[in-house]
Amino acid sequence: MVRAAPLLLLGALALSLAGCARNEATRMAGLYAPRPSALAETKGSEAIEGEKVALLGFQPDASGADAFPLRQSFRPSFTSKLAGRTIAVSRISDIQLADKEVVLTFDDGPMPGKTLRILKALDDYGVGATFLMVGRMADAYPKIAQAVAERGHTIGTHTESHANLRSLDDEAAMAEIRAGQISVAEALQPIGREPAPFFRFPYLADRPSLRQRIANQGVVAIDVDIDSKDYFHGAPSTVKERTILDLEKHGRGIILFHDIHERTVDMLPDLLASLQARGFKVVRLVPGGAPLLAAAKSAPAI
Ligand SMILES: [Zn+2]
Repeated sequence: MVRAAPLLLLGALALSLAGCARNEATRMAGLYAPRPSALAETKGSEAIEGEKVALLGFQPDASGADAFPLRQSFRPSFTSKLAGRTIAVSRISDIQLADKEVVLTFDDGPMPGKTLRILKALDDYGVGATFLMVGRMADAYPKIAQAVAERGHTIGTHTESHANLRSLDDEAAMAEIRAGQISVAEALQPIGREPAPFFRFPYLADRPSLRQRIANQGVVAIDVDIDSKDYFHGAPSTVKERTILDLEKHGRGIILFHDIHERTVDMLPDLLASLQARGFKVVRLVPGGAPLLAAAKSAPAI
């Protein structure tokens, strides 16, 4: 019950921040979704830290609007030594990585003071990543979401309120997913962009019926091969070393990071340097199928 207060505060803030015309039923379903009861279900007790950070990040005066002016001449190009191929993804089976190929993914943002610094490191190494954004975060910080898109990265979604979908029935879970898709789409709309039909389950807490439902909508679940565990307390170097060790063991894979943690921002340049030195290539995932909104809008009403 102790968690009800921040949830309501979060809901009120999100409601006050989002001034755009959205289907009210969808919005309300997202705001009042039950709180996940088992936050650390798949990741251990320290996973709760990310949740706290995400809640604290909702500051009405921290939109990030002028934090990161885009260089006028900037054109995304991923032709560096570390950059690998680009894979057009319509279904999970399209993601077939060769040895030494990795995909960088960042969940839970956009976050002031963090996401833009992640973009800087990716820019410096000329590589593209996939950001799985929480709807309420995109609502609160649309300019940061737009900066991610303008730098050529791929944006997918990660529910509206970071709910543990295993604690919801299928209908409520799909409403959470759909509300998140709409929020991220609204954040990107001013620059004429829209999210890819890519989705990641919060806490990696999925179930077969939900995977089937999103697949039916043409949405691809982006799974995780290597968990950096950057949500654990620890030095940035620990995150980097753990990730490299795991990667050397697997040889390839989709890596999970979170763009809401200082240690992630701190370790990323070193990690990218290490990947380059070891001969890895960073592969980009881009949508290969129908736009996300076509799927979201064709979904049945709540
Ligand atoms: Zn998450």
